[in-house]
Amino acid sequence: MQYNEIMVRYGELSTKGKNKKKFINKLVQNVRFALYDFNQLNVTGERDRMHLELNGADSDLVLERLKSIFGIQNFSPVMRLERDIEKMKIVAVDMVQELYSEGKSFKITTRRADHEFSLDTDEINHLLGSEVLKNIDGIKVKMKNPDINIRVEIRNEGIFLSSQTILGAGGLPVGSSGKGMLMLSGGIDSPVAGYLTMKRGVEIEAVHFYSPPYTSSKSLQKAKDLTSKLAAFVGNIVFIEVPFTEIQEEIKRCVPEGYSMTVTRRMMLRITERIREKQNGLAIVNGESLGQVASQTLHSMLAINDVTSTPIIRPVVSMDKNEIIDLAQRIDTFELSIQPFEDCCTIFAPATPKTRPDLEKARRYEARLNIEELIQRVMDNLVFSEIKVGETSEIQQADKYSSLL
Ligand code: ATP
Ligand code: MG
Repeated sequence: MQYNEIMVRYGELSTKGKNKKKFINKLVQNVRFALYDFNQLNVTGERDRMHLELNGADSDLVLERLKSIFGIQNFSPVMRLERDIEKMKIVAVDMVQELYSEGKSFKITTRRADHEFSLDTDEINHLLGSEVLKNIDGIKVKMKNPDINIRVEIRNEGIFLSSQTILGAGGLPVGSSGKGMLMLSGGIDSPVAGYLTMKRGVEIEAVHFYSPPYTSSKSLQKAKDLTSKLAAFVGNIVFIEVPFTEIQEEIKRCVPEGYSMTVTRRMMLRITERIREKQNGLAIVNGESLGQVASQTLHSMLAINDVTSTPIIRPVVSMDKNEIIDLAQRIDTFELSIQPFEDCCTIFAPATPKTRPDLEKARRYEARLNIEELIQRVMDNLVFSEIKVGETSEIQQADKYSSLL
């Protein structure tokens, strides 16, 4: 069937009261951005539905891209008709016919948003149902779990018929909840944390600490490739490289080994906070999972969190490793994350970091560093870039999103 539109249903957005318009506008903007290369598309956001007029664009390609846009509950390729009952009958029969094979059952489900329309929902269900029965030999009506369900929506904008409802990514439109700085390592957890935060409408910028020559350009590239994977949900993401070598060497020189991890994390958090201020962000996001390693015990979190009052979002804090891995596989970051490249934190990691660091001691040891000067030097040497979906590297060839740009 040659569909002429795609209809998008919002879900949770519909409950946003006064802000609803703002959310819908954001979503329209994100959808336009994700589909920017389909010149002929016309996207309009109405109160309850978004309409994508295809004007000849390939509906399969458009449907595929819509799947990763947050703020969409579900969507359907539809035939939009004028308010003409005869046309409605023809299209309904055609749609069923296309999906029908012997033994299959069907049902018509009508929603009427326009109460001025001459027929009510039951009348439309009956009218179209009997038309199908008349035209397709052997087909049966089934109310519960039919093989074919034709959804009919009678709206002010027109009449819409669809036979397929595709689950959207859910969540809220990215950017509708402000911006957060994602502390992105090359591991499994932080990309998942970034994904989950974007899902709730937060735009993210990726902050990555690296320590050349202790860490190689490949491990930096890996973090960029992970960012590119996350960009599949938004189009592009700002990536911020933080040169961390000098601070790590200073910590190694000045701080007792048991506390080097705690102090390192405190420095990372301080720097991320400075970057957040600079970039007008509202929160910091990380991939900490409670009890996973020494730096992620509650004692450690207390000693590390001490340096900032910025909200820290920890989307995977209560998840088990295998739950995180499941998500990483779903968003296609897992294979990249398990590639063995060194991370700045693991290289300098002490053999036995304290799982119960004492806050006062951490502060005292840290005072041996020239904190302000060290941070300022880092801030002066940040490297900003913008990473797009599908940007590939020698590590990550054959990216499945590469067709997107
Ligand atoms: P991940 O799988 O995300 O690397 P992890 O379980 O390996 O997490 P850690 O290495 O202890 O845990 O890091 C905890 C969190 O600290 C990470 O999830 C990430 O948010 C942040 N982090 C660690 N290393 C870096 C880095 N090099 N750059 C930016 N953030 C980092
Ligand atoms: Mg890690």
